[in-house]
Amino acid sequence: MCWRLRYLAADYAEQTATGRRMTLEQLLGRLEGVRRLQTGYSAKCPSHDDRVNSLSVNAGDGGRLLLYCHAGCTLEAILVALRLAGRDLFPAQEKPPRRRAVRRRVAYEIRAATGALVAVHERLEYDDGTKEFLWRREGKRGLGGLAVSELPLYGSEDVAAVAPGSLVVVTEGEKARDALAGRGIMAVGTVTGASGTPSPASLEVLVGKDVVLWPDADEPGRAHMQRIAERLVALSVRPRWLEWGGGEDGGAGRGRLQG
Ligand SMILES: [Zn+2]
Repeated sequence: MCWRLRYLAADYAEQTATGRRMTLEQLLGRLEGVRRLQTGYSAKCPSHDDRVNSLSVNAGDGGRLLLYCHAGCTLEAILVALRLAGRDLFPAQEKPPRRRAVRRRVAYEIRAATGALVAVHERLEYDDGTKEFLWRREGKRGLGGLAVSELPLYGSEDVAAVAPGSLVVVTEGEKARDALAGRGIMAVGTVTGASGTPSPASLEVLVGKDVVLWPDADEPGRAHMQRIAERLVALSVRPRWLEWGGGEDGGAGRGRLQG
């Protein structure tokens, strides 16, 4: 290894350790025969035996560094010759573009019993199989300081309109609630996730209704509904439970009401 390559490797190791990225000046400092052009720079391509300046160097939108060899070297080959990774071409504050793409976007509108829009819960499904939930409130990302437990139950505006004593099923999450609502069953969904618990104010809409709790068939799901049941009892609501049977089939697809 010649002294120059050794220097580059050491410098690169330090860069990787500190997470720093290249500036245009740093990049030019690693190249030979640098000449300033009307736009950008040219230099000897480090990836082939370059007699003329085949390499174009420029800073693109957002400070991303652009390298192009007119003799046909690939960007990968140039980066290898420079002991750099693709991410070094991006400015430090900017992440390389996310590789996953949104495959499906569902937006759940969380409304108060009055019908007023309080927040939007966005479910993003990516093509790599991952999913992500985002909150938006008043057009901005996040909940603007509002605790998730203080949000209305999903579907509160529909439940507020039904007669006292009507059956209302409580599900974990918006998706399960929509599945029931699509079958004509009055339901509300919690929006806190299994680890959270809706506040007493959020549960108020259930007072006077025939409440049936439908926990997800897992331990966090049952604990979630158990905490809701305790809060409902404090509001003088005696909820019933839809329990998954513990039969040989693991209870799949079979539920029974307990009152
Ligand atoms: Zn080249």
